[in-house]
Amino acid sequence: MWSKKYPRCVNCFTVDHPYRARGLCGKCYRLDSKLRTVRQWDLDDPSSLRGCPWWPNRENPERFTRIRNSYERQLVKRLELRRILGAKLAEGQISGIDVEYALSAVARCCAPRARSLFHGYASILTQRFDADQLRFVYDCLYRVLDARPVSAEFDCYVYAEERQ
Ligand SMILES: [Zn+2]
Repeated sequence: MWSKKYPRCVNCFTVDHPYRARGLCGKCYRLDSKLRTVRQWDLDDPSSLRGCPWWPNRENPERFTRIRNSYERQLVKRLELRRILGAKLAEGQISGIDVEYALSAVARCCAPRARSLFHGYASILTQRFDADQLRFVYDCLYRVLDARPVSAEFDCYVYAEERQ
């Protein structure tokens, strides 16, 4: 049994990582805890800024809010990715459109304009790959998306600017 109360993670619906707390696996728990911390960040209370990777400039609250919101959005999205794609993998049935969606998500990470690179690939994927192959490719793409650092994307530039 994965845990006494939960048969699997309540977010990603898998037992891939050991149980941690609140019904979550270790991976989802870390993201959820970080999200709770980020939501408590308050510029007027330095003790609340635990885990904040830079020292926010009090004279620029707009920038602080923008960066905090960016972190929050990325963490929410990551938990959502694990919930939606994790559930798909747990169900076992992966279709061509699922793989097209995952390919587009990976392409978008490389360049925003690349998001439409695989538009309409669902039928080609379904023709060329059987169920096991679709599932394997989907699992690989999911791992890539899940391995991204939360502070990546444009947000890195905001952060770098802040440190200068
Ligand atoms: Zn999980």
